[in-house]
Amino acid sequence: MKVLVAVKRVVDYNVKVRVKADGTDVDVANVKMSMNPFDEIAVEEAVRLKEAGKASEIVVVSMGVKQCEETLRTALAMGADRALLVETDAELQPLAVAKLLKAVAEKEQPQLVIVGKQAIDDDANQTGQMTAALLGWPQGTFASKVDLAAETADITREIDGGLETVKLRLPALVTADLRLNEPRFIKLPNIMAAKKKPLDKTTPADLGVDVTPRLKTLKVAEPAKRSAGIKVANAAELVAKLKNEAKVL
Ligand code: AMP
Repeated sequence: MKVLVAVKRVVDYNVKVRVKADGTDVDVANVKMSMNPFDEIAVEEAVRLKEAGKASEIVVVSMGVKQCEETLRTALAMGADRALLVETDAELQPLAVAKLLKAVAEKEQPQLVIVGKQAIDDDANQTGQMTAALLGWPQGTFASKVDLAAETADITREIDGGLETVKLRLPALVTADLRLNEPRFIKLPNIMAAKKKPLDKTTPADLGVDVTPRLKTLKVAEPAKRSAGIKVANAAELVAKLKNEAKVL
């Protein structure tokens, strides 16, 4: 069974992002970039499925600039078998990524597509759902457990009231949530071995997809600075401040 995993290159989660001086976007010049954390979980899940003998091949795909190759090499070092870069300098919004992912899925014919539940840069949480809809495939979003059989997958989902299990007929799409697994630490020999694994390239035009953005960003701004808190001596003072200063009582 072939598994396709989408990995996005994003600003590393440890970086404190800054907004460009002209307020048009986040400044990514000279900023550390990494694989989206939920995509690491998606790759890890695919690798575990392969180790358990349930998946036979793992293909990873990334859409974006040339440097996404680094993200794909990381996925290969984690255990993916081969990689595909859909190279473009264009701004990619979730609908465009979903159309590209659909085109790749139609070519590769995987039984399972795994994506992250959301990218930590745009926080859109849209690509997986849109891709499944465009393909007309069942979807199991916010997965905390994937139980794969020959023709179906039982997906345990994290929902507000607790956990829900859905049975999907394959081929299907899953989005990985935080508690699905803990990605492995990549060992040096695996990084070296990943350099020799196949990494192919294509473009949106080759896939016949128009990636023109549908949404326009009007302005990007930093959150308003919070003023410092104060300590009160006792409950009476707290109540007085809530009454007279905050005027919430
Ligand atoms: P989003 O809908 O933007 O929050 O992204 C959800 C998931 O879609 C991510 O965790 C990735 O698995 C996938 N994805 C989004 N954008 C890209 C991209 N440019 N390349 C590869 N995968 C992507």
